[in-house]
Amino acid sequence: MSGTKSENITWHGSNVTKEERQKVLGSKGCIVWLTGLSGSGKSTIARRTEQLLLEQGVRAYVLDGDNVRHGLNRDLGFAPEDRTENIRRIGEVAKLFADSCMITITAFISPYRKDRDAVREIMGEGEFIETFVDTPLEVCEARDPKNLYKKARAGVIKGFTGIDAPYEVPAAPELHLETRDKEVDTCANEVIAHLRAGGFIL
Ligand code: ADP
Repeated sequence: MSGTKSENITWHGSNVTKEERQKVLGSKGCIVWLTGLSGSGKSTIARRTEQLLLEQGVRAYVLDGDNVRHGLNRDLGFAPEDRTENIRRIGEVAKLFADSCMITITAFISPYRKDRDAVREIMGEGEFIETFVDTPLEVCEARDPKNLYKKARAGVIKGFTGIDAPYEVPAAPELHLETRDKEVDTCANEVIAHLRAGGFIL
């Protein structure tokens, strides 16, 4: 496998086919990849979507930015190359979750288009659902749920997405959620409708 440092490693397949696993577990795995500015609503929508899916008996799990940075990616900061490695690792973990037939919902700013596209590349056709949580900067800044914009404006946080670091808008996302004038539940239900229409819930 390219980019692998170790030699003598082999990819082990399963004794169970993908279809057999899906039939037993009742869902096709995929990644609902939420991307957007800080405060755009990624975590809130991810958690509510997960909750609604679980209430409907559907396997769903959220991978969330801060949580991953506490453990798996605690050695990474917010420099561009660290952000890229952050997303690469998360993509690989999300892929494993999706392979286990989980509706995997990720909530990361993921500001660079090439990093999101790299995750799309490692997924099967149709299994990467790029979801643009489209909230204008001024709305995110007014919400400022973690007081991060205030700190960024004051120069306490450097390299903050939308202030002094770029956010590259998705070119052709599978889903586009405009949260400015919408309830959280409306957004979550748009995600679920897309999953049902796409045949991910059996
Ligand atoms: P992020 O994960 O993108 O940094 P959060 O989910 O932590 O953002 O914060 C978003 C804030 O916006 C929350 O306080 C949430 O209650 C509020 N909000 C208002 N309307 C919406 C909506 N339609 N979708 C998601 N969040 C919303």
